[in-house]
Amino acid sequence: MQELQRIVDRAKRLVFFGGAGVSTASGIPDFRGGDGLYRQQFGELTPEMMLSQSFFYLHPDAFFAFYRQYMLHPGARPNAAHQKLAELERSGKLTGLVTQNIDGLHRMAGNRLVYEIHGTVHENACIDCGRPYSLEWLLGTQGVPRCEDCGGVVKPSVVLYGEAPDHYAMTGACREISRCDTLIVAGTSLSVEPAASCLEYFHGKALVVINREETPADVRASLVVRGDVAEVMGGIRV
Ligand code: NAD
Ligand code: ZN
Repeated sequence: MQELQRIVDRAKRLVFFGGAGVSTASGIPDFRGGDGLYRQQFGELTPEMMLSQSFFYLHPDAFFAFYRQYMLHPGARPNAAHQKLAELERSGKLTGLVTQNIDGLHRMAGNRLVYEIHGTVHENACIDCGRPYSLEWLLGTQGVPRCEDCGGVVKPSVVLYGEAPDHYAMTGACREISRCDTLIVAGTSLSVEPAASCLEYFHGKALVVINREETPADVRASLVVRGDVAEVMGGIRV
């Protein structure tokens, strides 16, 4: 913790790169951690298959049943990690926040410099006419949500497996990572591409990894903290 505090104190441009582990303390399960969705059985199917672009188009009923049950957590609230990141942004130290999460909790905590490279459950749009719909609207529907104007399927603006990540968010994420002097990578197994490759843009001084399990970035890190993201981030003094 002392070493982490020293690194954060010295940082002039700090960027945070996070994954599902940032939100487990808010009650949202990750994929590959100890209680992750990958440990559960869904018959022959894996969460990766059910959250793929082809599954969405071929089996929209099953897609939405899975999506509603496992990916939507409307009651979840920001935890100590989200709150600390909002504080770090307000202080001017945090210059970018890159997340693979789709839960929208960083924005809810008050961060503005957020790059949601896998999109967000808060935005949805009709695949035929493009009309946008809110999460609240989607929660008020059942089964496959249909556009009120044209009857087209309303698709969540989240990046499904087989789809390209959000171009604007990805470009911004790589830009901020290439400009920062300090990068904190937390709560991610770094196994989803091309998200994980964003880290290749980092040429700063200090790379910190905070994760319960080993990650491929550990070997490059100046500091590896094996702990709970919410606890460790929450302990930083701004
Ligand atoms: P992942 O599930 O592959 O890996 C999560 C990592 O975080 C694991 O190594 C786990 O050990 C670690 N971890 C979990 N809780 C932790 C905690 N409290 N403290 C420290 N470490 C913790 O997640 P990923 O790398 O983000 O990839 C999963 C993909 O699935 C992402 O693309 C993401 O979009 C999506 N996803 C999003 C959410 C969300 O929005 N909250 C939840 C699940 C999956
Ligand atoms: Zn429509």
